[in-house]
Amino acid sequence: MDKTALNAFSQVTQTISDDSPSPKSLWQTQLAEAWRSPADLLDRLELTELLASVPTDLHQFPLLVPDSFVQRMQLGNPLDPLLRQVLPVNSELTVTEGFADDPVQDQDASPLPGMIHKYANRVLLITTGTCAVHCRYCFRRHFPYEAAPRSLEQWEQVLEELAGDREIDEVILSGGDPLTWTDRRLEKLIVRLAEIPHLQRIRIHSRLPVVLPARVTDDLVRILTSTRLQPIFVIHANHGNEIAGDAREQLQRLARSGFPVLNQAVLLRGVNDSVDAQTELCRRLINIGVIPYYVNQLDRVQGAAHFEVPVEEGRRILGALKAKLPGYAVPRYVIDIPGQGSKTEINCDPSEHRC
Ligand code: SF4
Repeated sequence: MDKTALNAFSQVTQTISDDSPSPKSLWQTQLAEAWRSPADLLDRLELTELLASVPTDLHQFPLLVPDSFVQRMQLGNPLDPLLRQVLPVNSELTVTEGFADDPVQDQDASPLPGMIHKYANRVLLITTGTCAVHCRYCFRRHFPYEAAPRSLEQWEQVLEELAGDREIDEVILSGGDPLTWTDRRLEKLIVRLAEIPHLQRIRIHSRLPVVLPARVTDDLVRILTSTRLQPIFVIHANHGNEIAGDAREQLQRLARSGFPVLNQAVLLRGVNDSVDAQTELCRRLINIGVIPYYVNQLDRVQGAAHFEVPVEEGRRILGALKAKLPGYAVPRYVIDIPGQGSKTEINCDPSEHRC
């Protein structure tokens, strides 16, 4: 396996996570051994014929996927919904009108490096540019992560800003993926945030419990259950096949830890663009105590146009879920419109004949 082709995302990863002289945890070893070579991955999946459709020049956002996630893919299936999310394809090189590098205008809402303040009472921190997986549809695939703080000391300015704005009561740790930080580093930041009296909640947005389940460590659970801040954990799974094996067990463990665990999915062509796929995903989530929260309309990021499902089709799919699932298991279909004070819900009510 070629592990030398680290991209800009992954180099940031190394810098940030090397804060501990401790031996590597299991999840860190698994992340270091993640698949980075399309040829090796396709050989492993008995799909070498797909190599011709993989671009050779994707240095800024190359293949990255942990073996745990690969183990949930079907051998010899070129349409596998998990493979489709991570395998680079030539379509990504097509420049599509209406798609942009920063489709949700994150950078216009960034008063300080590493801080995004779009909504009245909550602030999002870009903790890192590192992820455990490179999702080909990622809306931050062109994000300038180099500008974000790299050490805890560099977060001081952001912490001061948070301490000075009493309207903010929730901090969202995002990225990249905040759980690529070590537990020790994560705890240090959360302790500092908890010292700010008007902060009430800490939200973690992470795909690691799904793609790298070993990341749900005893220490992580301890950190989240011992802070005075109310944790809200938001995972990211798009297809029912992701909720299997170790991931299923570790997600259930997280959901039974005493704080809300929600799922955000993205509606993706060829991955989950059917009533059956969405229903099965929601069923598997609620069976382990994870609430299906949002299905996001694809953010129109350059390179991801082949994943887009038209909103009218999304309405039909999501609208059909009400007849198949209990009310608490039906996710809200939302779209991120730049300049709005929150995500915008897309109406899927069949009684309004709009689906
Ligand atoms: S969608 Fe999330 S986990 Fe995937 S590449 Fe983007 S930031 Fe990373």
